[in-house]
Amino acid sequence: MSVRAKKHLGQHFLKDEQIAQQIADSLTEKGYKTVLEIGPGMGVLTKYILKKNLVLHVIEIDTESVEYLKTNFLNLSDRIISKDFLKINLADYFGEEQVAIIGNFPYNISTQIVFKTLENRHQIPEFSGMFQKEVAQRIAEKEGSKVYGILSVLTQAFYDVEYLFTVPPTVFNPPPKVESGVIRLTRKENFTLPVNEKLFYTVVKTAFNQRRKTMRNSLKTLNLSDNLREDPIFAKRPEQLSVQEFISLTTKIENDVI
Ligand code: SAH
Repeated sequence: MSVRAKKHLGQHFLKDEQIAQQIADSLTEKGYKTVLEIGPGMGVLTKYILKKNLVLHVIEIDTESVEYLKTNFLNLSDRIISKDFLKINLADYFGEEQVAIIGNFPYNISTQIVFKTLENRHQIPEFSGMFQKEVAQRIAEKEGSKVYGILSVLTQAFYDVEYLFTVPPTVFNPPPKVESGVIRLTRKENFTLPVNEKLFYTVVKTAFNQRRKTMRNSLKTLNLSDNLREDPIFAKRPEQLSVQEFISLTTKIENDVI
């Protein structure tokens, strides 16, 4: 018996063994012994990760898939977490341990998965995942690109991003309407910001809320001093600022006195 794909859970099962192998091989196995797969479904990717010299845990929201895995992956059965990844506290399962994350998970929760990874980055040295191609590109692109945005800046502040390969719809059952892309995030050696992190998030989000406008216009709501607003960086648009420039701008804002 196999699992029937459920639309509300974003289920598109991979049917191409070679792609599954390629995704599993994107794990570098450096700096961790444990890996968590999000949304294993019927385990097409799982079986290749199991061949690695790593301790694999999986988290799956669909009870039918969990039953399938328990029956077909006997050696995994006590490491199956039958929960919603977005709702768990990683420390409850892994304590302080370093855990890599991997998965072909639903598109509709993929950015939330990235944000959760950023929040838990002290524990996540590496992350490999399948995304809708445009989202994968957005995460990976640098300043100057049309798709560079909030997700790019926030992710690249803490991780190096590599776009690994593109995956066509035909390798899934049922096929999605869009192409997919696999990316790998490798945590930077220094993954703490030299500035107030909340303020950094606010600056990035506020700037990109109106991406066509100059920084001077879009950051009006932050009530900055005239003096600071003379800084040449305020004449630029957010998509022209590198991650480093966003960080140094946040430092200036932090120290701004009106
Ligand atoms: N990785 C498998 C399945 C892909 S479909 C494959 O490549 O074939 C996406 C999977 O994510 C489904 O099994 C779905 O049930 C699961 N899923 C959806 N939302 C989830 C969540 N919030 N937490 C954990 N798993 C989830």
